[in-house]
Amino acid sequence: MAARTLKIGLIPGDGIGREVIPAGRRILEALPSSLNLKFSFTHLDAGWETFQKQGVALPDKTVEVLKSDCDGALFGAVSSPTVQTKGYSSPIVALRKRLGLYANVRPVKSVGSGGKVGKVDMVIVRENTEDLYVKEEKTYTAADGSKVAEAIKRITEKASYNIAAMAGDIALRRQRVREAGAESIHSRPQVTVTHKSNVLSQTDGLFRETARRALAEQKYQSVKVEEQIVDSMVYKLFRQPADYDVIVAPNLYGDILSDGAAALVGSLGLVPSANVGTGFAIGEPCHGSAPDIEGKGIANPIATLRSTALMLEFMGEEEAAAVIYKAVDANLEEGRLLSPDLGGKATTEEVIEDVCKRL
Ligand code: ATP
Ligand code: MG
Repeated sequence: MAARTLKIGLIPGDGIGREVIPAGRRILEALPSSLNLKFSFTHLDAGWETFQKQGVALPDKTVEVLKSDCDGALFGAVSSPTVQTKGYSSPIVALRKRLGLYANVRPVKSVGSGGKVGKVDMVIVRENTEDLYVKEEKTYTAADGSKVAEAIKRITEKASYNIAAMAGDIALRRQRVREAGAESIHSRPQVTVTHKSNVLSQTDGLFRETARRALAEQKYQSVKVEEQIVDSMVYKLFRQPADYDVIVAPNLYGDILSDGAAALVGSLGLVPSANVGTGFAIGEPCHGSAPDIEGKGIANPIATLRSTALMLEFMGEEEAAAVIYKAVDANLEEGRLLSPDLGGKATTEEVIEDVCKRL
């Protein structure tokens, strides 16, 4: 069978983005030939340095190449100016908009016996286009002269349906990745729908109802569907995280839950994410540009390696993804070559080499 060639856009950005994105490329090039995959790479600009050189943080060329000539991409991190700068806006936010990447997907997984709260192996699927983040706010003066500020929380049936269906698809795919050999604490796919419809009966009510309808479809028959009010979800997340497989949430709750869940597994340097739309995914480590460790060669590449695997999952390459997850888990479990954020002494390079050797 002819090898499948996948074209990958690499957008390192700033700071340690430039040190960890090469890890993504390295791991793809090191995949065993039995997987029958080939990769070609295109470097693309975005970020603060790009803004200083070209006057835009996200050049049109980057978007055009991604749209016309890439099957997937990896995004590192960007530094933001410390003072508000005219013309600068976050390139990743713009990319999500321009490529229609409506979901933010964040898997959180512990290794070994896990931390204080035990094992964690969940993925948070966050809607990324609406809810309170439509940024329609206004401030006015009430009759008594005091100020009032209001924001719109917009929930649509369409976006709720799409995100729930994506969560269902992810639950099914995680099951396939498990079956392909990735270790997991779960044995069957499960989706937990998160909301606060006991209070926000219209907005969150619509989200809840639509999500349940989407997940009731025949193709999700094997998926166990549960729901959880967001506040009790936070409580349970920190007490019994092992209860969760896939969590689907509107934008705001998803934002909060994903950072909270990342705290369960320690370093930011471990947590991957993907920005996903119809037919396209950008893998992105959850950490920022980490200026405090930039240039020292000690950034943990694991969040990027896992983001690379996650991108492959969305390209339908579950087996390749499972191979990377297993190699990363083996590195962490052995614990001999760990970067300083995990208490080790290994450099970025040494961690990459060790994981590549384990493929
Ligand atoms: P930014 O504004 O770009 O988000 P930041 O200063 O908030 O930058 P983060 O990247 O968010 O920095 O990181 C927060 C802390 O976690 C920093 O101390 C950073 O060194 C550490 N950190 C983040 N990513 C990694 C990584 N991959 N490896 C090791 N340490 C990391
Ligand atoms: Mg940060």
